[in-house]
Amino acid sequence: MQSSDVSESARHNFKRFEMATVQRILVTGGAGFLGSHLCERLVADGQDVICLDNFFTSQKSNVAHLLDQTNFELIRHDITLPIWLEVDQIYNLACPAAPGHYQYNPIKTMKTSVMGAINVLGMAKRCGAKVLQASTSEVYGDPEVHPQPETYRGNVNPIGPRACYDEGKRAAETLFMDYRRMNGLNTCIVRIFNTYGPRMHPFDGRVVSNFICQAIADNDITLFGDGSQTRSFCYRDDLVTGLISAMNADEDFCGPVNLGNPSEFTIRDLANLVIELSSSRSKIVHKPLPEDDPIRRKPDISMAHRELGWEPGIPLHEGLQKTIEWFRSIDLAAFRPPTPNYEVS
Ligand code: NAD
Ligand code: UDP
Repeated sequence: MQSSDVSESARHNFKRFEMATVQRILVTGGAGFLGSHLCERLVADGQDVICLDNFFTSQKSNVAHLLDQTNFELIRHDITLPIWLEVDQIYNLACPAAPGHYQYNPIKTMKTSVMGAINVLGMAKRCGAKVLQASTSEVYGDPEVHPQPETYRGNVNPIGPRACYDEGKRAAETLFMDYRRMNGLNTCIVRIFNTYGPRMHPFDGRVVSNFICQAIADNDITLFGDGSQTRSFCYRDDLVTGLISAMNADEDFCGPVNLGNPSEFTIRDLANLVIELSSSRSKIVHKPLPEDDPIRRKPDISMAHRELGWEPGIPLHEGLQKTIEWFRSIDLAAFRPPTPNYEVS
């Protein structure tokens, strides 16, 4: 073998080694709806995964099937408190996401977003880890621009009932950008639009889980307002692929980048589709529209397509069908609402 061949082959092997190196990955909020699916995907990819959660809006059963895997570890911890771990990547998902959950203790919600961000950013700085922030379409508030591109700065009411979540996530975005500029951290912000699928909390009050639970029990479907408000629903598998693509994107790319399905539906359309797909006898009843409920929401995903090569592939009727099947299969008695004795800040 010639010496040039040896070095070429060594380079090749080194490259393979680099690519094959297992990443130590922390997922905060890893026992939640999205977090548990992300952990599952990363464990299946052979990564070394630490799931951190305080189980405020989730339960151990979401990740119980991963506990006997040698590359999975579960830590009960509140991310508003510092923690010392050695990791290469951090997905920061810890935060209640459903309006009913984040309004349960709004001060704690704000603390989770802001102090949680400071704690994961501090950890990333110490370890040299890349850190991804799960931000939200709520940073656009009740948008005056439609569909919403990342350049739109939003229309958020800073003193309303949704502000603890919206402003908390906006402050977290600020911290991510300041740590990046000031400390050279490798960061990425993704703005997630309404995502649904199996393992949503059946009592979280979000529209997809509510409508499905109501429909399969033939109970009334509670349509808030006249149902003309819109949302764009992304199936969880598509979203998890987007999160992993963003984490592994080039270091120069830091977002914020929208992740969501751009197909827009009125909430009335959604109610009718759920009734049809579940062959339900439910009737639609109207309830008042909650304060500050956004009227329209639809992501402009051209940046995700261009920078990450990402776009969702699962249409609403297909994702809903799988979600309805899952909701039919679960025992509601195994789920509880947010921790009743949850600390008051
Ligand atoms: P989820 O409520 O199922 O998951 C959140 C997880 O964070 C739960 O397991 C909860 O117990 C945990 N958590 C909450 N506070 C914590 C704390 N102080 N310390 C440690 N863990 C804590 O919600 P989800 O839908 O899986 O959302 C995950 C992330 O994605 C959230 O940050 C949310 O804001 C973001 N997001 C989700 C959506 C969506 O439609 N699902 C949309 C926009 C943004
Ligand atoms: N909604 C509804 N009935 C319900 C729950 C929600 O009509 O039982 C409406 C809600 O008013 C909002 C939309 O569905 O317009 C989406 O609500 P969700 O809480 O899922 O998320 P949001 O996008 O508002 O954070």
